[in-house]
Amino acid sequence: MEMQRTVLMADGQSFYASIEKAAHPEYRDKPVAVGDPARRSGIILAACPIAKSRGVTSAERVGEALAKCPDLVVIRPRMQTYISVSLLITEIFESITDQVEPFSIDEQFLDVTGSLALFGSAEEIARLIQTRVKLSTGVWSRVGIGPNKILAKMATDNFAKKRPTGIFELTHDNIEEELWSLPVHQMFMVAGRMTSHFARMGLHTIGDIARLDLGEFKKRMRFRMGRQSDIQAEYYWQTANGIDPSPVVTGMRSQIKVINHGRALKWQAYRTIEDIEPLMLELIVEVCRRARRYGYMGRVVAVGAAETDGHRSSGFGRQRTLPRPTHLEHEIGPVIRSLFLEHWKGLPLTHLHITLTDLSRDDMYQLDLFEDRERLIHREKTVDALKERFGPTAIIRASSLLKTAQAFERAAQIGGHWA
Ligand SMILES: [Mg+2]
Repeated sequence: MEMQRTVLMADGQSFYASIEKAAHPEYRDKPVAVGDPARRSGIILAACPIAKSRGVTSAERVGEALAKCPDLVVIRPRMQTYISVSLLITEIFESITDQVEPFSIDEQFLDVTGSLALFGSAEEIARLIQTRVKLSTGVWSRVGIGPNKILAKMATDNFAKKRPTGIFELTHDNIEEELWSLPVHQMFMVAGRMTSHFARMGLHTIGDIARLDLGEFKKRMRFRMGRQSDIQAEYYWQTANGIDPSPVVTGMRSQIKVINHGRALKWQAYRTIEDIEPLMLELIVEVCRRARRYGYMGRVVAVGAAETDGHRSSGFGRQRTLPRPTHLEHEIGPVIRSLFLEHWKGLPLTHLHITLTDLSRDDMYQLDLFEDRERLIHREKTVDALKERFGPTAIIRASSLLKTAQAFERAAQIGGHWA
């Protein structure tokens, strides 16, 4: 029998906007949003509760928001400040437990199982968090409590954010009553497209998925989405049932300077670019996944290789600076590929490795926010969540790097098996 854990998810309400309101007391009773005031086509990154009550939403255009709310105060983002505040909040949490996992700039998981004896019940810890964070940053925290990360997260998003106390606990005892009656789009990781898939499968509430036999759910998913949907089916079914074995993982961001991944290769097995590309993709995917996992983007990529035909041996290591920091495969992949092709002598490979350096926190990406990039990053992180739960070989996804399905078949063979 596993030990019962107590996990908290703390979310900062209107994070950027709350930090700005704390910095500008003169705007206390005004609608405030964070965005580029000089660019009406720019995006609203955050809106304070007053602005939200006037119809302003995040991710809409500054111009649209001003049309709805003409006295809106639009403040230019100061990402470095928001990151510092996020780190300060991590430090506050670390005074309660050493198991703190930043999930995004304004969301962090805490495993407080070992802190209950010292600090009181989970709810008391939640209130302590709210007080300490509010006093030192001006940000109001909503705290979800659960026996694991997925229930803590859904407790935050679906309940704590809507309660005046800002606190809610989801357990295996109240999940049926509280969570299962909600529409399926309120389940973690379910977006518009999945909602309509579920609707066509006759699944409208979270409970509709949870109550189905897993085998039957997989069958319906396969019928709509094809054979490779089993892993997703399992993920959604587990989520609906509040099952999540993944632990709270303490961040390692302060120690990491470089992210790399490499493989020693069986001699003579990697002779042609067709042999090498799938392996290269595998390495790129892994480096990017790790970067996202630790919350980093890198500005410099490097590729290193050793090659030999048995008589002549050779090797190289070359790096290139990217136009902007990234942890996205399709941005890194083509650069790695062309670096490799420029320097490879064409002999069979015995070693290949890929490195990402000049790292910066990935919260910074919003500085040059493009909607599409944000959507992509979200998608990549979704896939990461699936892999975390079901293993790195679980999902082989399409990538613009390597065009052919054949490449993926090879990648899958290297990875071991199709999901
Ligand atoms: Mg938030």
